[in-house]
Amino acid sequence: MARRRTWNPIKILRRRLHRIERQSASRHRSRWTKAADWSLLLSMPVALLLSLFLDANISRVSSENLADLRLGRDGRGTPLAATILRKDPNRTPWTFGSPLATVQLRQRTIEHGWPFPGLTTLPPLELLAVPLADPSVTIDLAAPSAVAGLESLRSSTGVDLTDALDVVLLALETDRQRAWVENLTQQETRTTRAWSATLATTVSIWFLIFLTSILLIRASQGLHWLASGWRRRRAIGKLRAGHCPFCNYDLSGVQYPNKCSECGRKIWG
Ligand SMILES: [Zn+2]
Repeated sequence: MARRRTWNPIKILRRRLHRIERQSASRHRSRWTKAADWSLLLSMPVALLLSLFLDANISRVSSENLADLRLGRDGRGTPLAATILRKDPNRTPWTFGSPLATVQLRQRTIEHGWPFPGLTTLPPLELLAVPLADPSVTIDLAAPSAVAGLESLRSSTGVDLTDALDVVLLALETDRQRAWVENLTQQETRTTRAWSATLATTVSIWFLIFLTSILLIRASQGLHWLASGWRRRRAIGKLRAGHCPFCNYDLSGVQYPNKCSECGRKIWG
C-alpha cells in the first residue's frame, strides 16, 4: 500500500528513521535514498556546531529604563540632593532651586544566540547622568570611569557632581530599592545559560539543513533523470540512423549488430 505523501517534518523524520532501522545492508537502496539518510545523520552534528557558533557570535542588546532621578541643590552651597521621579519626567516640574542633572537607572540585557538566546548576560546597572549645563555629555555614575568624567565636567562647566553616586544610592536606599543599591555597589555581571534554548536552536537548524539537503537531492535526482532520458533518446536516434550510439561509427551495413565493429561496445542485449 502506498503511503500518502506528507510535508509534515515530524512525520517525514519518523518515516525516515523507521526506514533506516528497517532496511538492512542486503536490501537494495538507491543512492538517492542513501544520500537522504546520510544527510539526516550528518546534518545533526552540523546543526549543533552551528548553534554553538551562533551562541558565540550573534548577540542582541536591549535596554530597560528602571527609574528616572534628578540631581540638584536647594540653594548655593547646600549639599547635592537626588529625587526619584514617580511620573513622566517631561511633565514633572523641577523642585530644586538649582537643578543640575537628570539621571537614568538602566538595565542592559545582552542575549547571545539565534533564533533562541542560549546565553543571557546582565551587565551591572547603569546610572546615566546628563548634566543640564551640557546635555551632550553622559556620565555613568556607577562605572569606574565616572571619576574622570565628573572631573572634566567640573573643569569645563563648573558643575560639581562629585558626590552624585552616594547621593543617588542614598535616595534609592531611602526608597527601599535594596536590590538596585546592591547591584550598583557590587558591579557584578550576571549570566544565565538556557540549554533548552540552545537545543531548540539546534533542532530548528537541523530541520532547515535536512529539508534543504532533501530539496537539493531531489533536484539533482530530477536533473539526473532528465539527462539520462536525453542520452537514451539520443542513442535510439543514432541506432535508427544506423550509427553506433557510442562512437557514431556507421553500422548501416550490418542488420542487427551485437557489437560495434569500431569501438567494440555491446549494442543489443
Ligand atoms: Zn562504436
